[in-house]
Amino acid sequence: MLFSAVIPCYNEEENVKDVYDEIMKNEEYFKSHDIDTEILFVDDGSKDATVAEVKKLIESDKRVHLLSFSRNFGKEAGIFAGLENANGDYVALMDADLQDPPSLLPKMFDEIFNGGYDCVATRRVSRKGEPKIRSFFARMFYRIMRRIAKTDIVDGARDYRLMSRAMVDSIVSMKEYTRFSKGIFGWVGFNTKWLEFENVERRKGETKWSFWGLFKYSLEGIMGFSTAPLAIVSVLGLFFTFLAFVAIVLIIIRTLIFGDPTNGWPSMACIIIFMGGIQLFCVGILGQYLSKVYMEVKNRPIYIVKEKI
Ligand code: UDP
Ligand code: MG
Repeated sequence: MLFSAVIPCYNEEENVKDVYDEIMKNEEYFKSHDIDTEILFVDDGSKDATVAEVKKLIESDKRVHLLSFSRNFGKEAGIFAGLENANGDYVALMDADLQDPPSLLPKMFDEIFNGGYDCVATRRVSRKGEPKIRSFFARMFYRIMRRIAKTDIVDGARDYRLMSRAMVDSIVSMKEYTRFSKGIFGWVGFNTKWLEFENVERRKGETKWSFWGLFKYSLEGIMGFSTAPLAIVSVLGLFFTFLAFVAIVLIIIRTLIFGDPTNGWPSMACIIIFMGGIQLFCVGILGQYLSKVYMEVKNRPIYIVKEKI
């Protein structure tokens, strides 16, 4: 039986060796369960010595593989490429920064072997070490998402998970360009066991996610797995049409009773600006979906490989 560890890396020169060592600390467990290992580093166009570090490992250990992108395509592309190129009967996805502790692997395998699960996923129960405001918005995102998305998305879920071959194949069969893995994992289904762990802070280097980057990513998640914003737009349209109708009736009645003093143009200006704003906002939402359709229709490759070892 073959186990593949897939590790997307972007500027992780300091972590490559560490994560390899941490995974290999489980070697005894792997041996006793007849599990062969391969480790696939997906270099997402790193600008530092990540590739050189991986090559060093390859020289000493043939079980290490490298897939290097021609430029930075983003973590989602790295995940996709890694899953597509992994050969294992079981595939684990983990970050290079050791925020996903490889020491959990034996426990995850136990759940698969003894619990009959197809997938063991992890979620962190705390967010200690993370900026408060980021945690707040993250929580809010998951709350909204759970309400409107057609797929199961778990608060605090990490991308760290061990999956069976069947599940990996089904994920790879989803070729969408704008990828939101947290949604895809839930969408494909399969029996999933959730393991909980305390948040671990990144060991070395720094995070690649800015607040703005995360915000855009969350919008992608919402648009990728829900059409609720479009429905809200329609409801808004109906609501304001109704409101306008009531206002017309009221104004006609008022004019008939009280005559027609020409006041009220400031309120008129407010209403026009307000409606203009709402309309632009709604057109914007439509545009966002349209832009996603545009990207899908272009059908560009999700990643481009420069080097494969
Ligand atoms: N990553 C990647 N491409 C990117 C950004 C990040 O492959 O464009 C990788 C990164 O090397 C790490 C993982 O994705 O292994 C998670 O990134 P990071 O630790 O910066 O995110 P955080 O844990 O702060 O959410
Ligand atoms: Mg991290």
